[in-house]
Amino acid sequence: MSRAEARGEVERLAEWIAEAERITAFTGAGVSTECGIPDFRSADSPWRVHKPIPFGDFLADEAARVEAWKRKFAIDDVHGEVSPGRVHRILAQWATQDRVGAVITQNIDDLHRRAGTPEDRLVELHGNGSYAACLDCGLRHELPAMRAFIARTGRSPVCDACDGLVKSATIAFGQSMPPEPMRRARRASLDCDLFLVLGSSLVVRPAAAFPEIAKQAGARLVIVNRDPTPLDAVADLIVRDDVGDVLARTGRGDD
Ligand code: NAD
Ligand code: ZN
Repeated sequence: MSRAEARGEVERLAEWIAEAERITAFTGAGVSTECGIPDFRSADSPWRVHKPIPFGDFLADEAARVEAWKRKFAIDDVHGEVSPGRVHRILAQWATQDRVGAVITQNIDDLHRRAGTPEDRLVELHGNGSYAACLDCGLRHELPAMRAFIARTGRSPVCDACDGLVKSATIAFGQSMPPEPMRRARRASLDCDLFLVLGSSLVVRPAAAFPEIAKQAGARLVIVNRDPTPLDAVADLIVRDDVGDVLARTGRGDD
């Protein structure tokens, strides 16, 4: 796409954002790359080195659990301290101003919440990697204590309240999707007239079904992503450019 064409796409996006009564945003790893967190599919992604452990292995095997924790901490250490980027900040502002009804995210990096997106507008489909939780009673556990326990004992942590297994509060491969966020994401997809996909490859299911649900329910579907996605053919508008630049250039982030 030429620069001029890209400008035309961004103008159209800005018009559609201004016209929309209710916007639902759907974000993927691409909104956090500018913050220093690599996405999943890039060749140099640390996820390729520290491959996530499937949920069944985590449940079945103590050695797999310890390994899962080690890989989680290795990934966290790759990016270290990060701060929200432009997309997080703009969406938080729009959500606070009631222009965005919901931010559905596949990300586990906590950056939408930290940017100020109200929690009742934020749907974390794959959980949140900034804390841990007991798989049995749901009690929250903090990561530094988990890290210290593993370093001290070489064992995976269990819950003080119920002896259940404690795991990073994210949805692992093979773990079932959390029902409440799925229900909220579905409602937000049905309840919007503009659905914005921002920085997602749209290959992870069932999350990638939500743009289709919105489109079928009559919303305009816009995909802002550097690479092609499987839903490009059904989108009303595709902007293949840097997502932070694009959203900032809609001119709607500062008012
Ligand atoms: P993905 O890695 O599959 O795709 C990211 C997409 O963003 C790619 O198509 C890439 O072209 C695009 N992209 C990257 N930087 C961009 C930029 N600056 N501007 C525009 N486009 C950009 O990510 P996904 O679709 O979210 O799925 C990955 C899965 O892995 C998710 O389930 C998620 O839970 C997890 N994940 C999360 C994080 C995070 O929390 N930040 C990071 C990596 C992976
Ligand atoms: Zn418990």
